[in-house]
Amino acid sequence: MIRQWYRMDLHVHSCLSPCAEDDMTPHNIVQMAALEQMDMLAVTDHNAVGNSLETVVIAEDFGIACLYGMEVETREGVHVLVYLPNAFSLLSLEAFIQEHLPMRSHRPDVWGRQLVVGSDGELTEYPWLLSQGTQLSLTELDRKLASLGGLLVPAHADRRSYGLLSLLGHMPAKLNAAAVELVDVNQSLPLDHVIVMNSDAHSLDAMVRPRQRYTYLWGDAPTFEELALGLAGRSGRKVVVGLDEGIGTAFAGFGGKFRKGRS
Ligand SMILES: [Zn+2]
Ligand SMILES: [Zn+2]
Repeated sequence: MIRQWYRMDLHVHSCLSPCAEDDMTPHNIVQMAALEQMDMLAVTDHNAVGNSLETVVIAEDFGIACLYGMEVETREGVHVLVYLPNAFSLLSLEAFIQEHLPMRSHRPDVWGRQLVVGSDGELTEYPWLLSQGTQLSLTELDRKLASLGGLLVPAHADRRSYGLLSLLGHMPAKLNAAAVELVDVNQSLPLDHVIVMNSDAHSLDAMVRPRQRYTYLWGDAPTFEELALGLAGRSGRKVVVGLDEGIGTAFAGFGGKFRKGRS
């Protein structure tokens, strides 16, 4: 692989999330990501990973790297994106999350379906309600992720509902956030973190976005390891928002400061 820009969408919901459309199957998501010329993708369902492994396999066929991810709701009511280095650590985290998720029966007619898609296309309904908070605090989740070598990114942190900055009013100093996902980057927030933007798509059409809202990795390959380096700004790697065909001509986010000009 050579050092280049990789386009990413690291926050997409499959049909396992009750709030997502039923046609958000692993296959449809990957096909839409391919149409959008994505290099990296992550399916981040609420508190579960039932469609992640299948998406990784299908994405490989399309030449897209799919990260192992999830969107966890903490006890504080904050949504946090997590990325794991491999399938084993993802499944370990899911088991841990399930231990801390209240076992409320799911009602598809009320909340929407929670569909797990098998490799043969067979659909299974996930039995426990996923769109609810776990009993894990941000600190406990952070600690668990550190033990698994994962990355933590507060999701839509500036959004009123479930956003860390909106709910807590600040970034907890001890939280090991690898980046902060924002909905609106045209605001100055007191952040010392790399900013990312993702689609948070719950439907296929929502995966299509204005080019200036894409996030890019400058690295040697679209991998978890390169992403970790990029978010840390190490070894010449970096992650920026808003870059497009004319490299560096849009705005680039470093340390929460957005500036016009070359990256
Ligand atoms: Zn969310
Ligand atoms: Zn989401």
